[in-house]
Order: sequence, then C-alpha cells, then structure tokens
Amino acid sequence: MQLDAFTILIFGILVKALLGVLFLVFWLRLGRAIWFAWWSATFLMGVLAAILFLAGFAQGESTLAVVAGALMAAFACCWQGARAFERRRPLWMAALAAPAIWAGLCLVPGFLGNVTARVLVSSLLIAPLLGMTAFEFWRGRAERLPSRWMVIALFATFALVFAVRVPLVGVAPFPFGALPEQPNAVALFNVLMFFHTVLLAVLLVALNMERFELEQRTQAQTDSLTGALNRRAFMTRGHRLVLRHQKSGQPLCLLFLDLDRFKSLNDRFGHSGGDDALMRFVAVVHECIRPTDFLFRLGGEEFCCLLPATGVEDALVVAERIRRRMEAATLSVAGTPVKVTVSLGIASTETFGYDVDTLLRRADMAVYAAKRAGRNRVVVATADDVEGGFLHAVGRGMAAAS
Ligand code: GH3
Ligand code: MG
Ligand code: MG
Repeated sequence: MQLDAFTILIFGILVKALLGVLFLVFWLRLGRAIWFAWWSATFLMGVLAAILFLAGFAQGESTLAVVAGALMAAFACCWQGARAFERRRPLWMAALAAPAIWAGLCLVPGFLGNVTARVLVSSLLIAPLLGMTAFEFWRGRAERLPSRWMVIALFATFALVFAVRVPLVGVAPFPFGALPEQPNAVALFNVLMFFHTVLLAVLLVALNMERFELEQRTQAQTDSLTGALNRRAFMTRGHRLVLRHQKSGQPLCLLFLDLDRFKSLNDRFGHSGGDDALMRFVAVVHECIRPTDFLFRLGGEEFCCLLPATGVEDALVVAERIRRRMEAATLSVAGTPVKVTVSLGIASTETFGYDVDTLLRRADMAVYAAKRAGRNRVVVATADDVEGGFLHAVGRGMAAAS
C-alpha cells in the first residue's frame, strides 16, 4: 500500500476536526477549563489551514498565504491555551501580532510571489509562538505533572523545526525550505504534522488528568478549615520523612502545638469565632517556619510541625519564635481583639530515634507538662522523662517536675 501526500492530509484533517470537537466538548463539560476552548480553536484552525492548503494546489500563492496565516492563528491559540492552563491572562495583542504582521506583508506587492521571503517570514513568526508555548509550560514546572516535560519537549522540537527552515531556505524543498516542492517532502511534512497533532492531543489530555489527580490528592491531605496538612498527610509524609532522615543520619524534630484554653474561646465567641482563631494561628506558624518545614493539623486545636534536618537547639528557637509571636499577637476573633497563647512540646530523633509515633507521643507528653506548668511555654522532651516529669523548659518559667 502506498500513502500519498493527499491521503495523509485528508486523514490529518479528519483527526484534527475530531479533536477540535472533542476539546470543545471537554470545555463545555468542565466549565472553567477555558484552555480546552483555546486548544479546540487550535485544532479547528489547523483543519481550516489544511483545507485551504488543499485548495491551494489549484489556486496558487494567495491561498498558501492564507494557509500560513491560519496556521499562525492556530499556534497563537495554542500559546494562549498554555497561558490559561498555567492560570495566566490571555495576551490578545501578542497573540494577534503574528497573523497581523503576516497579513500586512501579504499586501506588499511582490511578497506573495517570493517563496523564499514567505518561508523566511512565516518561520520567523511561527517558531516564537511555539517557543512561547513551551516556555509557558516550563514556567509552571513547580506543579509536578509527569507529562509536562514531554509537552515542553514537543513544543520546543517544533519550534526548532520551524526555526531550522531559516538556514534551510535555499537548501531544502518546500515546505522545509523554499526550493521547488517535491511530493516526498510534502508527504513527510504532512506525516510530521499528523503525529505532532495526535501526540499533542494525547499529552494535553494527560496533563489535565494528572492535574486533576494531583488536586484530588492534595485535597485529601489538606485540612479544609486552615489549609494546613491533615492527620492523614501526617501518617504518610511523617513516616516517609523520618525514614529519609534515618537513611541520611540527619536529625529531625517534631513540635507538638496545642492552643491554650481554647475551649473558653469557643464558649465566648462560638465555634466560628474559634475557627477564626485557628486560621490566624496557622498563618502565624507559617510565618515562623521555613518553606521546607511541614505543619499538620492533627485535630481540634492540636497541631504538629515536622522540622527536617533540624537539631533540638534550632527547634527550640523555632518553637520559642512561635510562642512569642502568638503571645504578642492580637487576633481578631468575631471582630473582637483577643489574646491566644500556645504551649509547645519538642521531641527530637537525636533523643528518641527515628520513629514518628514515638516522637509524637513524647512531644505530646511534653505539651502536657507545659500545660501543667502554667501554659504559654515550650518544653523539650528528654530521654529521662517519665509521665509528668520533664527536665527542660523555656518560655515563661520552668516546667514542673512531678
Ligand atoms: P488547654 O489549655 O488545656 O489546652 O485547654 P483547651 O480548652 O484548649 O483544651 P481542650 O483540648 O480541652 O479543648 C479543645 C477544644 O477545642 C475543645 C473543642 O471545643 C475545640 N475544638 C475542637 N475542634 C474544633 C474546631 O474544629 N473548631 C473550633 N472552633 N473548636 C474546636
Ligand atoms: Mg488546648
Ligand atoms: Mg487540646
């Protein structure tokens, strides 16, 4: 069986049309995923370009010029889709610039008849659009989606294909360069475009599925009230983190934080007032810890922090910083200024070894001691601790030893 350029092009049109409609349906069904609308426009404009290209065999240069214009508009839409996916505003002027420049040049006498000029200008306009698309996906790399790097590679490669047309202009046949067209070259170009389209569609859908899965996973591990990690996250991440530290031999500290007399706050201001205080408290803690530290809400007004690669002396500094910040802060609870303090317990792997459950239990015991000693203080759990007896305390006075 032999596939000629024409058949491949027809096949490409059908696939692009199908994808254009599918992406449109995705957008209509998902509502807020506007990028599907942009990418649907990309495919449908690709269909338009291919149909015009077919017509161009009969009608000459002016049709080819419109084909290139439609392709530019398609790639501009793709770029805007990538911006929308990365939650950036569309750049209308920049998106319209390439097709507008192209249209303006097509009106210049002699331009359309000059294949070299056409190939050069169209390549110089299309390559940056594809490059910008790759750049948008690259800028969003903090969101770890496995397909992201393949999408970036795909757009970067295609930007390169169009950029390489510039030095090839006098060497390769159209559409790779500007030498007279050969059926093989056209067929090869169409095959490349066909695979590009299919691969692109698969990867864009994969990206969306991966984002959805990531959001679900994040939601399942986040406390909906405060935005801190939840107990479930503590179970999984806590164990993993401690195991990693055990392998590297680095110390790790666990802070247990319990708000003081929180019940009376709830009694005074109601549950929603208490919720206000919890949210403010989490914001204060986040101001006091590093971006690499983890804050978990274990339940109620009990939280814990995991401080990676941190010895007990440094953990004490962090805990004291949180305690002082809370002591100094005036929280607005149900519109009323209120003082809320916190008691903290510290347990370190240096003392208790690499077991997250032991760390949590020991830090909890230390908090209990802090409460018994009058609250609003930090207690470090030591190996000699027995129920109710602690050696170390800072903050407002010493913890009581039973
Ligand atoms: P202490 O200083 O000894 O820690 O006293 P406390 O009142 O803070 O201690 P306790 O653990 O007895 O009380 C915790 C209170 O936290 C009980 C409950 O009313 C409240 N609480 C638990 N979960 C939530 C929540 O999601 N929102 C609010 N607003 N309150 C909660
Ligand atoms: Mg409490
Ligand atoms: Mg409590």
